[in-house]
Amino acid sequence: MGIPRITKSIFVDQFILMQGVGVLIGLSFPYFLVWYGFPEQQVMHWDFFIVTQIAGQMVGLVSFILISTVIRPHLKLLSHKMQEIAQGLEDKEFDSQAARCDEGLCQIEVVSSDEIGISAQAYNQMLHALIQAHEVERVFNQFTKVMSENLDVNVLADETLALLIQSTNFDGGAILVSEKGELKLVSSIGILNSDSLVEHDVIIKCVHTGKPSRIQLPKNIDLDGVLAQFNPSEVFIEPIEFKGINLGVLIAATGANIADKRTEQLSQLFSRSIGLAINNALTHSKFQTLAAIDSLTNIYNRRFGMDRLKEDFSRAVREHSSLTVAMVDIDHFKLVNDNYGHLVGDKAIILTTKIIRDSLRDGDIVVRYGGEEFLMILYGASSENAINVCERIRHQVKDTVFMEGQQQINLSVSIGLCAYPEQVVDNEVSLIDMADQALYVAKQNGRDKVVKYGELS
Ligand code: GH3
Ligand code: MG
Ligand code: MG
Repeated sequence: MGIPRITKSIFVDQFILMQGVGVLIGLSFPYFLVWYGFPEQQVMHWDFFIVTQIAGQMVGLVSFILISTVIRPHLKLLSHKMQEIAQGLEDKEFDSQAARCDEGLCQIEVVSSDEIGISAQAYNQMLHALIQAHEVERVFNQFTKVMSENLDVNVLADETLALLIQSTNFDGGAILVSEKGELKLVSSIGILNSDSLVEHDVIIKCVHTGKPSRIQLPKNIDLDGVLAQFNPSEVFIEPIEFKGINLGVLIAATGANIADKRTEQLSQLFSRSIGLAINNALTHSKFQTLAAIDSLTNIYNRRFGMDRLKEDFSRAVREHSSLTVAMVDIDHFKLVNDNYGHLVGDKAIILTTKIIRDSLRDGDIVVRYGGEEFLMILYGASSENAINVCERIRHQVKDTVFMEGQQQINLSVSIGLCAYPEQVVDNEVSLIDMADQALYVAKQNGRDKVVKYGELS
């Protein structure tokens, strides 16, 4: 049973009780002296009572002052620090102003092993846990921003990995994504021949089973052909999944030290959350590809081709480079449709596409511009280079035997081309216009021809 409270302040209660004890001591002291043997007429006197009373009060006062100076400052410090943190949390400044509550600055020195010392220790532990939790929240908020702002798988993976390494004691890592059943490296930091990660059994197993692995390595181990720019001591392999489908794997490794609590928490949080963002990015890229590709021929469609030509034209102007566009049109294609039907016509379009594709260099582009019309964008090619390419295509089409059942179908193409800067034009549309005019001339001159703009009229 505790002593009943008198006022709202424990310290004031303590003071009143001390004074009460002082009064009791002052009153009882003369009787104690008589019992002890002092002459009664000397001590049982009112002025002696006053002296003992004053002494009793003084003892009470000194005890109170001692308690106030010994105990109170510790409690004051504890309450002050707690108030500061509570205020910081309310203002949401706690996490952003590191200086305001740096763990070292905000901790309390534990100076005793009693309840006050235990309270200080508990406060320090709470502070540590709080700062950790806030740090995780801060990093996770940044990560959420990265996820919501990026629709490109590579950028998303690069930024996620950079953030993870910057906010934890990981020193390197990689993100691998499985696309069409094939595991691909999309980002890596601190790993030298990271491409070989896709062949690692542990990683492949993680993608197949969706189960995380954690490997602690002895110092100086050779990581089976994968060299890191540091000596890994612990490697985390976390699956990335979305709605039960394994999309890939997040690999992260610590260097000198093994992973701390926050590192563990963040690696799990990141790998669990990134699945949705990667799935969105993959879907987005799939739709973008679909939107840019012609479904019959699997080459770029006109919309994408025009965007690309615009970019290439600007680049050619900027870099003083040449750029040739060529229009290819199948001759008398209507007849193919009329004589053999639309499906055979489609096959002829596909065959012509293949011939054109096979004749182009990497970096050149062929676009299905219209029904049986193709636009070729040859960056860096002069008209002379382009004429060679076009002639090769024309011959190839003419020489290819297109069989439909027993029927042999002969195809030919006419091509009109126009080269920049040979033709001084302001924009890419003018280039196409001129290539179109050259194509018209090729048709007028008997078809199965390659004509450069301005060459024939
Ligand atoms: P020219 O030598 O003057 O180019 O004669 P052409 O018959 O090729 O010219 P035209 O432009 O009049 O005819 C093109 C034909 O291509 C008309 C159209 O029905 C056909 N066509 C357009 N797109 C497709 C397609 O996707 N598949 C098939 N089978 N035919 C198509
Ligand atoms: Mg035609
Ligand atoms: Mg046509």
